[in-house]
Amino acid sequence: NRQLLLLTRAGYEGDCAAQVQAVAAEAGVHGFCKAKADTGYLTFIAHDAQALAEWFETLDLDDLIFARQLCLAGEPLADLPPDNRLGPILAALDGQVFGGVFVETPDAEATRPLMRLARQFTKPLEQSMRKRGLLEPGNRERPRLHLTFTDSTTVIPGWSHPGQAAPRPMGIPRLKLSKHAPSRSALKLEEALITFLSPDERQELLRAGLEAVDLGAAPGGWTWQLVRDGLMVTAVDNGPMAEELAASHQVEHRREDGFTFRPERPVEWLVCDMVEKPVRVAALMADWMARGDCRRAIFNLKLPMKKRQQAVTACRELIEGRLIEAEVPFELAIRQLYHDRDEVTAYLRRV
Ligand code: SAM
Repeated sequence: NRQLLLLTRAGYEGDCAAQVQAVAAEAGVHGFCKAKADTGYLTFIAHDAQALAEWFETLDLDDLIFARQLCLAGEPLADLPPDNRLGPILAALDGQVFGGVFVETPDAEATRPLMRLARQFTKPLEQSMRKRGLLEPGNRERPRLHLTFTDSTTVIPGWSHPGQAAPRPMGIPRLKLSKHAPSRSALKLEEALITFLSPDERQELLRAGLEAVDLGAAPGGWTWQLVRDGLMVTAVDNGPMAEELAASHQVEHRREDGFTFRPERPVEWLVCDMVEKPVRVAALMADWMARGDCRRAIFNLKLPMKKRQQAVTACRELIEGRLIEAEVPFELAIRQLYHDRDEVTAYLRRV
């Protein structure tokens, strides 16, 4: 029995379910989600298993706004003996060979203690799989095995194609906040950049000689991130910027309203982390792009308490509508990143 297993931010199971069902329906796949609030995971069960398998071939994590991780999963293996979890798991693999393995667990109150188990279990599992010829590390022809513990004696086995799912277990990137960063928000932009850009794109699109505007820049985590990559940044915020950053020749601090500020000439990047109604921010981003004031934008959309999936859809439709009307070819990606709380991060670019 096949199902799609998704990890999400705890509390966002319903939003993730609504969005997955919408994406599935668009692909002609009908089914239902099993989700429990605050568990950090959910499953999508298709009425037609064959349709699900075919859809999975085309599915990418980038299509799913609220999912941190995805795999095509089978039935849970329950009642694993705590002194020999490996045995039944290896038996269940049925001789299939994988190119990698992630041991995972939902990032929620009830399952957070299992993160340690997942980490400790990984090495012995890899060794046993290798010994049996079930693991060819780094072989990109082979699927990745996902083992998701939902409690200490239950694991859901699943798999994903290389490049299809998150590149880190549980979709949690390993980022360390530099002690020079003026705020923790720096990690949010860093995660957005590694999520939305390939390493090559990152090198080409974030470098000395390019200009950026940062709306709602204070105290300066995002500006700092861009400065580090060599860009010249106009930091727009009525609040104070971190002193050292404000003193940099790469930064111009403008105490202005982010909704009325416009650059004198087009810039490569617009970034925006203003705490405002999401549709207001979406409209502003679309305007910049439609007028050609920037080529690409990364921005946060703060979410309401309820109907968050609908709020994101409204923002997407607003941006799409404006840019189609302005005849600007564009691509728009939206994801809830690990460092996002009650918000999502969007990447909008001219193509
Ligand atoms: N990205 C920043 C960083 O990395 O340090 C943090 C930004 S903080 C979440 C939001 C900022 O938006 C605040 O400093 C606030 O002053 C600013 N802001 C809110 N509304 C604004 C507006 N209309 N114009 C300019 N800045 C605004």
